Amino acid sequence: AVSPASVPEAAPDDGAGLEAARKEYAELRAQGLSLDLTRGKPSPEQLDLSNDLHSLPAAGDLRAADGTDTRNYGGLLGLAELREIFAPLLQVPANRLLALGNASLTLMHDAVVQALLSAPPGGGRRWADEERVRFVCPSPGYDRHFGICERYGIEMISVPLTGQGPDMDAVEELVASDPTVKGMWCVPKYANPTGEVYSDETVRRLAAMPTAAPDFRLFWDNAYAVHHLTGEPAELLPVLDACEEAGNPDRALVFGSTSKITAAGSGVAFVGASAANVAWLKERLLKQTIGPDKVNQLRHVRFFGGTDGVLAHMERHRAVLAPRFAAVQEVLEEELGGLGIAEWTRPAGGYFVSLSVPDGCASEVVRLAKEAGIALTPAGAAFPYGKDPRDREIRLAPSYPSVDEVREAMRAVAVCVRLAAAEQRAAAAAG
Ligand code: PMP
Repeated sequence: AVSPASVPEAAPDDGAGLEAARKEYAELRAQGLSLDLTRGKPSPEQLDLSNDLHSLPAAGDLRAADGTDTRNYGGLLGLAELREIFAPLLQVPANRLLALGNASLTLMHDAVVQALLSAPPGGGRRWADEERVRFVCPSPGYDRHFGICERYGIEMISVPLTGQGPDMDAVEELVASDPTVKGMWCVPKYANPTGEVYSDETVRRLAAMPTAAPDFRLFWDNAYAVHHLTGEPAELLPVLDACEEAGNPDRALVFGSTSKITAAGSGVAFVGASAANVAWLKERLLKQTIGPDKVNQLRHVRFFGGTDGVLAHMERHRAVLAPRFAAVQEVLEEELGGLGIAEWTRPAGGYFVSLSVPDGCASEVVRLAKEAGIALTPAGAAFPYGKDPRDREIRLAPSYPSVDEVREAMRAVAVCVRLAAAEQRAAAAAG
């Protein structure tokens, strides 16, 4: 993945460029398009890849390997055989990887709330009793992570991404000096939305950095662990091992799910951590539920057969997704390449492309696109408090529309980028 480079200052315009850009935008609007590039949802074609899942397990096949009747209560930490299948993929030993409900977002939310209400291992008191709690937020990032912080009054501190993960000099400085910094959101592989993969050095530094808060936690959201777009899957250093080696075994909580592997609304979510953290998480689970949906978990075990089955299944997703991502690259290159008004990421996995436009233009591009019938993620959505300080990043989500729709949408976005940039140049010339 390539991180968005800075877009050069636009040269003043003589007016002709603006006229041309207005004309092509008027033609675009006249087409009356209706396209949506907002959320990273699997397409119906991808969901169909898992259709066999829904007739599993067979009526006579409801017992887990240890004889447990999956229809009944119990099995708080999830089916052992499903945890075995996903352990290598999420890089967590199976005995410390829990298979729970349908959404990893719930698990992240609940872990934050649990830390607010009961001191995590290594911490003196619960976070709710601290005067301030702050999280490091690599930005642009996942809006729903930031939403959890906002909901619970956790202050967010943005740090930039470098293409290899967060700017580690900035992160190390923040966490070393400030005991109110209790956590950090990390999407370490094919990040939402920049597509970058944390380098080994980034992972090692995150694992080893001294933190003023003894109960500092990395919320390690490995949502795209196996979601490759190329034949050469990126390798991520296992964070729990790195933390253990650095003498900070309790630092990371690892999350993942099958939302973009099987069914986004009815998959299985996982959380993995050190033995002490698992015991701490279990205290809540014991009060929260008598056990997860084991029938759904067994269905997933039968569907995949093993870890290799998951990887083979992801190749089928890749066949559906890669042409959409290729279409984004082709059209952006054709329409915006060499103009000096836009840069974009070339992700090797995940669900997003991040488009950078000249500073101050992203909201205008999104507005113009909306008027022309193309829904884009609101500018700023991928930043803490919904504010992109430079108003320049636009998150593109090409998974759901068809390849033809992706092409059409990208051409339309390019028209909007050209107009917004021309408007800005004209305003600069006039001002
Ligand atoms: N984390 C990231 C980084 C995501 O992009 C998404 C989905 N957009 C999620 C978590 C949501 O995962 P789940 O469906 O397991 O809640």
